Amino acid sequence: MKNFKPANEIQDLQYFGEFGGVNPSISDSSTYTFLSAKTMFDTFEGNADGCYLYSRHTTPSNLYLGEALAAMEGTATANVAATGMGAITPALLQLCQAGDHIVSSRTIYGGTYAFLKNFTPRMGINTSFVDITKLDVVEAAINKDTKVLYCESVSNPLLEVADIAGLSKIAKKHGLKLLVDNTFSPLAITPVKLGADVVLHSLTKFINGSSDTMGGVICGTQEFIDDLRNVNDGASMLLGSSMDSLRASSILKNMRTLHIRMKQHSHNAMYLAQKFEADGLKTVYPGLASHPSHNVYKAMMNEEYGFGGMLTIDVGSLDKANELMELMQERNLGYLAVSLGFYKTLFSAPGTSTSSEIPEEEQAAMGLTDGLIRFSIGLDNDIERTYRLMKACMISLGILKEPAMA
Ligand code: PLP
Repeated sequence: MKNFKPANEIQDLQYFGEFGGVNPSISDSSTYTFLSAKTMFDTFEGNADGCYLYSRHTTPSNLYLGEALAAMEGTATANVAATGMGAITPALLQLCQAGDHIVSSRTIYGGTYAFLKNFTPRMGINTSFVDITKLDVVEAAINKDTKVLYCESVSNPLLEVADIAGLSKIAKKHGLKLLVDNTFSPLAITPVKLGADVVLHSLTKFINGSSDTMGGVICGTQEFIDDLRNVNDGASMLLGSSMDSLRASSILKNMRTLHIRMKQHSHNAMYLAQKFEADGLKTVYPGLASHPSHNVYKAMMNEEYGFGGMLTIDVGSLDKANELMELMQERNLGYLAVSLGFYKTLFSAPGTSTSSEIPEEEQAAMGLTDGLIRFSIGLDNDIERTYRLMKACMISLGILKEPAMA
């Protein structure tokens, strides 16, 4: 497992364009011709490998991107989607029907939480939300109707780390599918190698890395991906969250630098986390020995990619958090924006933004405090300078004290 080299897997793929171009041609068509009516019929039946039907089903460009993502995650194949939610929702709906039950981590992206909490119950699918770091609690929540165990490798926004191998054991014992959203830790964690069945990503974040497009992916077995694309009852095909080919081709090009970017995000985040913690700020980062799941992450990680680009600090109150974020933006240290994985540092207060779907009392129960700021650390070339300037902001707002003169 430690020897898995996901970036090599991506780089070993070779694509050429129609006229020998070094980039694959973009399939600029929503529909495809057939030489015979019989082949068209067979394609509808799912029996004509290599034939394209209609772009909601798939496109050559989407297949190239899917192949690169499957190579990265070590799965047989993958299906790309228009957004991360456009991948997560069909994956869950393909596996669950009325009467079924899901056990999910309680600290997950707010949109996924809202889908499971407010939307799927309308379809008779209910979810128990648990502390995913407590395997006994996870197992106790499973009942005879449970079909899926759901978590994020590193959770949004609290950066809790799921013990994927431990969860996989539980899933296998009870005949459940383990679905892991790996958006926060591409390359660094490979959930399938630890026993996950399906891996999901919002490509909108680190994988694309330029905050110019949305995207999602479901990585899994050929059988599962074929099921999702089935014209009669496939959730991806029927719910229609398909990616456009132009977008697929631009994301594929950005994926070529993902390994370099992830190393720099991790390097910069580690530097800041260590400095902030030493300054006495309440800092959460999986790379810090003080993180409760530091060792769990260490045991899972593909080492060269580090502990990721996400960290949180708690500055005590929402007012202070807002003041600090506004000042840091004014001084060009990053942007007050949701999302993550950009070249520039992004910061937001999750309680009032990306996790606002989670009711206040549940936020409190999971430790999501008002003063929490979530950082997606950028690709800054001089992180030492960034730190000095951030610290100056914190001192001027009274969050940190002026260092005593020697
Ligand atoms: N999963 C995680 C961990 C996320 O942070 C997000 C978005 O913030 C999503 C899924 C949803 O992705 P998208 O916004 O691309 O639909």
